[in-house]
Amino acid sequence: MRTHVADTKNKAGETVELFGWVHSRRDHGKLIFIDLRDRSGTVQIVFVPQQKDYELASSLRSEWVLKITGKVAERPEKMINSEIETGKIEIQPESLEVLAQAETPPFPLDTDGREIGEEVRLKYRYLDLRRERLQKNIALRSKFVDAARQFLFKKGFLEIETPILSAPTPEGSRDFVVPSRLNPGKFFALPQSPQQYKQLLMVAGFEKYFQIARCFRDEDLRADRGFEHTQIDIEMSFVGQEDVTALDEEFTVSVVESLGYKIKEKPFPVFTYKEAMEKIGADKFDLRTEEDKKSGVLAYAWVKDFPFFEKDKEGKWTFTHNPFSMAKPEHADWLLKGDNVGDILTTQYDLICNGVEVGGGSIRAHKPDMLEAVFRIMGYSKESIDRQFGHMLEAFKFGTPPHGGIAHGVERNLMTLLGEDYLREVVAFPQTSSGRTSVMDAPSELEEKQLKELHLQVKK
Ligand code: ASP
Repeated sequence: MRTHVADTKNKAGETVELFGWVHSRRDHGKLIFIDLRDRSGTVQIVFVPQQKDYELASSLRSEWVLKITGKVAERPEKMINSEIETGKIEIQPESLEVLAQAETPPFPLDTDGREIGEEVRLKYRYLDLRRERLQKNIALRSKFVDAARQFLFKKGFLEIETPILSAPTPEGSRDFVVPSRLNPGKFFALPQSPQQYKQLLMVAGFEKYFQIARCFRDEDLRADRGFEHTQIDIEMSFVGQEDVTALDEEFTVSVVESLGYKIKEKPFPVFTYKEAMEKIGADKFDLRTEEDKKSGVLAYAWVKDFPFFEKDKEGKWTFTHNPFSMAKPEHADWLLKGDNVGDILTTQYDLICNGVEVGGGSIRAHKPDMLEAVFRIMGYSKESIDRQFGHMLEAFKFGTPPHGGIAHGVERNLMTLLGEDYLREVVAFPQTSSGRTSVMDAPSELEEKQLKELHLQVKK
């Protein structure tokens, strides 16, 4: 029975049943104008004196929830408002019902919200999300993920979930850990990415996998970095570097063009890391002109041939991108022997867009000796390799197809599409910049009983 507010514009002369919130109330002389808002937009309701619900209408306040039945009427010429979608019509109400009253919100909801402090916005996130900008951002996120799924299903990928309670998988960050009640003193780690599981799914013969995967990384927070993020995680068997980047480019073009965006250059330009550093001085760069920026064009590029290793703060070798990657074939020998470590290039490819890294992946080491060599170069003892990655080395002994993949950060992609500077603008319930949850109070203390069950003691 319900009509969405935006659909009223095509229903002049009809009687409709509307549900929504009071966006605003204006009293003009004896007339009361209510802008009723639902997810689709706003529409004007006009109450005139003598009308049955006029008294009730005069008591309405912002954010009250209403049910209104009324007739859609064309507005007189001089009353047309070309700024809103429903500006040519208005509703002449026949009945009004208040479904819920509302307290005055702690901040305005009819602005873009950027002027409001983060703390209060996130405390009342469910109200903050009512603003038009965030409704639009979160809806685009849903459409983005939907378009991604549709493309990947059409290409024969299977969507497969992998565990959240798991063993550590290194992506260069700290792990979030979860104590085990049944195993005193032992902990799960939340995945920094599904990297190892997706590779095991290739061993398992699924050949084409994807997942809209939650990833957890305990790292210093920045504008474009939270403790958790979502990635569109892809892995394929029997592929080389060009197969993955070609598929991924088709994926990216299909998804963003289906959402109405324009891409500056197709096929995407390709840079080696060396070229990028020499020519541009960075491995993430923005290829847009000022004109492109104004018109919302997306400038994608691939960067490849990264060094596999770099020295960490203590002067030890560490991976630059992904320890599970394969070295470029011409450097495989160096990797196995641990020669020329600083010159070994990896099959890593990064996708950048408008200066932001929006995706990255590699062809993987699928033979145990290759993977072992990576950890050996980073100074892992045989014993610690076996303890941490023995399951991968073992799996790789049972006929592992060559494989590779990529992952796209959903939030980073949305931020570039929307021109938003902060991750929190594209996440429904983001963490605050000090790492606390929206609305709910976490992290917080545990009850003594719970600590005991988990075999934990908190040092005062
Ligand atoms: N696991 C990588 C990441 O999370 C992506 C990949 O190599 O597929 O960044």
